[in-house]
Amino acid sequence: MSLAERYHSVLERIGQAAQKSGRTSADVELVVITKMHPASVPFELYQLGHRVFGENKDQEARPKAEELAELGGKSASWHFVGQLQSNKVKSVLSYADCIHSIDRPSLVKELRKQLENNDLSTTGFIELNLTEDPGRGGVLPQDLAALTEQLIEIERIEILGVMAVAGLGVDPRVDFERAIRASEELRRIVPTATSLSLGMSEDFELAIEMGATHVRIGSAITGPRPNTA
Ligand SMILES: *Cc1c(COP(=O)(O)O)cnc(C)c1O
Repeated sequence: MSLAERYHSVLERIGQAAQKSGRTSADVELVVITKMHPASVPFELYQLGHRVFGENKDQEARPKAEELAELGGKSASWHFVGQLQSNKVKSVLSYADCIHSIDRPSLVKELRKQLENNDLSTTGFIELNLTEDPGRGGVLPQDLAALTEQLIEIERIEILGVMAVAGLGVDPRVDFERAIRASEELRRIVPTATSLSLGMSEDFELAIEMGATHVRIGSAITGPRPNTA
């Protein structure tokens, strides 16, 4: 299958899954993850009409965003989905419209500083860590409320909702349910934070059936990444 065929096939599957949860594909934002692929991949998708792309490393994302703009993809929107080091915040804010991985007090502090210094605003998700490993990205569910209280102090960040990655080797349904419970807790503090960034190539249909509003899909569209092929 070609890139265009894989893209259209995923769009169709998104539409079918959305119907099962009483929605349409317009209710689900597809973020195509282009990591480890050259800018020609988002450019080809851009020419097919796609606008929203995601990356997980600043050093790769920034030049790719610039290259896509130079190729003519000027109205693309970039979402940052990877673990975000504080020293990359300024750079990421220069091209990304949305950060899916807000996960700790030191990052929130740096976001505030850079947004204020550069007179910017942004949107973001609070990433949950659903594993037992505190070294993984994401806030532990028990720390979600405290992080949210810190975030709502910053008017320059619109909190959209909760993001999570289902753990390897566990039933994604169990992890998605935990994310949905965390989302309910978040909404008690921020009623407008109703979005859910859940679902990747292997589990996006289930995520949508369970209410995901943003899916982050890489390999099902781009094909295998070069070093995982
Ligand atoms: C790579 C990545 C994805 C996409 O993964 P696929 O399995 O290729 O769809 C989604 N979310 C995050 C945070 C990623 O790093």
